[in-house]
Amino acid sequence: MARPAVAEINLANIRANFQLAASMAPNGKTLAVVKANAYGHGALEVAECLARDAEVFAVASIEEAMTLRASGLRHPILLLEGFFEDSELEIISREGFWTAVHRQEQVDALRQLSLSNPVTVWLKVDTGMHRLGFSPEHAAGVYLELKRLPQVSNVVVMTHLANADDCSTQGVLVEAQVSRLPASFLESGVELSLANSAGILAHEVVRAHWQRPGIMLYGASPLAKANPFSEQLRPVMTLKSKVIAVRWVGQRAGVGYGGRFVAERPTRIGTVAMGYADGYPRQAAEGTPVLIDGQRSKLVGRVSMDMLTVDLTDLPEAGVGSDVEFWGESLSANEVAAYCDTIAYHLFTGVTQRVPRKYFN
Ligand SMILES: *Cc1c(COP(=O)(O)O)cnc(C)c1O
Repeated sequence: MARPAVAEINLANIRANFQLAASMAPNGKTLAVVKANAYGHGALEVAECLARDAEVFAVASIEEAMTLRASGLRHPILLLEGFFEDSELEIISREGFWTAVHRQEQVDALRQLSLSNPVTVWLKVDTGMHRLGFSPEHAAGVYLELKRLPQVSNVVVMTHLANADDCSTQGVLVEAQVSRLPASFLESGVELSLANSAGILAHEVVRAHWQRPGIMLYGASPLAKANPFSEQLRPVMTLKSKVIAVRWVGQRAGVGYGGRFVAERPTRIGTVAMGYADGYPRQAAEGTPVLIDGQRSKLVGRVSMDMLTVDLTDLPEAGVGSDVEFWGESLSANEVAAYCDTIAYHLFTGVTQRVPRKYFN
């Protein structure tokens, strides 16, 4: 028998989530962000599943883009972080990739090369995230400069929202970021890309033009508070395994490394084949929810590399071979993430190569 740890990926739900994103900007276009191995879901499989729905895919690096090309995907692929070395430009041009441009040296590199095919450039503007991009004061000039280059076939203006997920302060901050864009960018004729998943789900003001959904394709809402759109998202990854051993421990017995869990009553402990080397977070707090054969229970004790322990005391039917769900179809990744002091993005991208992905639908 194979080790039972597995990540099941519901491809039909990815398609439904993409359709939800696309339907929110019927006059705009929607690309699919599949960086970081499609947030841990498998970039090749996800791209193949969305090949007919998405016109463009987006990744973080040329290596990720080349992997998709090598699999036969013919779509334009946007490099969200741009190119890291000038030598990538020839490949970008040859392979029909699109690239972000976020600093002047990249514009200069473009100008100095003669490329086989002109490239589509996404001009990144820093409207308040203060991570990547030209300042709004310089961006309008750079836009005109790029437009004039024979090496450039099209320019899209992109900015990234820093606070789109925080519904308490949302409107103000997102509007403030948008208002920092040079006025000339808000004229018709300039293609804009403003919205990540949180922007799409919660901010009508950024929904036009090019949308860049990532996490919502994978079924997790980035919003601090659900809204009627985020509630339509369907879970995609279900991380599962099985109970491989069961024992009773007496009152005051410690369980696992450091004896972090101390039994307050005679406790029936189930040991499950899932650990931090699979991507289940070691920082998961005492009491993090898990589902045992569909019933809620909780993590007890520290997560080890290959195993963790759960409380089966109130689930007498459960035993060796019982199914354990860590997040997914019936237990939201966001709920689990809160117990782990992290976010669903981190849980999904953290699932390691050791865990086989099983695709269905
Ligand atoms: C990762 C990324 C996205 C997708 O963000 P989500 O929050 O996952 O929707 C969009 N735009 C850029 C520039 C990114 O790097």
